[in-house]
Amino acid sequence: MTFGCSIVYNRPMHRPIIAIDGPAGSGKSTVAKIIADKLGYTYIDTGAMYRAVALKSIEAGIPLDEPDKIVELANRMDIQFRQVDDTRRIFADGQDVTEAIRTPDATRLSSPVSAIPGVRHRLVQIQRDMGKAGGIVMEGRDIGTYVFPNAQVKIFLTASAEERARRRCKDLERAGVKCDQEQVAKEIKERDERDSTRAMAPLKQAEDAVLINTDGMSIEEVVEEIIGIHNRKVNQCCTG
Ligand code: C5P
Repeated sequence: MTFGCSIVYNRPMHRPIIAIDGPAGSGKSTVAKIIADKLGYTYIDTGAMYRAVALKSIEAGIPLDEPDKIVELANRMDIQFRQVDDTRRIFADGQDVTEAIRTPDATRLSSPVSAIPGVRHRLVQIQRDMGKAGGIVMEGRDIGTYVFPNAQVKIFLTASAEERARRRCKDLERAGVKCDQEQVAKEIKERDERDSTRAMAPLKQAEDAVLINTDGMSIEEVVEEIIGIHNRKVNQCCTG
């Protein structure tokens, strides 16, 4: 039987799209990068794209209550991921913004900017374009539900708010910053609520996504599980 191996988006099944969605702090980026490296696939961080639009809006002095101008800016913006000296970098209109998109201001603005329908429309278009040849690991909030509803491998990665807060605090403390784990857990729960209840492309698990709760799992275990799912899909296809 071969229809399980149908060609989706004109792309042969042996280099599928791996869609990884989940809330902030669930470990998506860490895991997605390792999987992309192991499989020789392209890694695409869609959150970085929303952050880049937020950053450029700040730089252009466009306030949030002028969403049309933010959409206009997003429509004109050129966004590219490039590999520079073994590191993955994001460029917005030719400018390397890899570090700048992680500042507190860009982080704060990225959430309301990502809720503007015109911005989502534009970025989803670019994401579909980037992924159409297959062989990608794309992570975000709506990849399996909206950007690539036909992705062959869909993962919904999660962890309890307490575990995510613990990881976040560990990172901060490693960087010499004091951290109140209870407060961080509270903020994470608030963000989950906001991301899951927004009208446009809310964070939710696709029906056909595999749920992985990473509480108590090591990064290696999560990576292994996802690569196992990927390999089974590819083999199913090619031998089916
Ligand atoms: O993943 P990250 O935290 O960098 O994402 C930045 C912002 O972009 C978040 O507020 C998130 O809600 C939003 N986002 C989104 N859709 C995606 C990826 C990120 O709305 N596919």
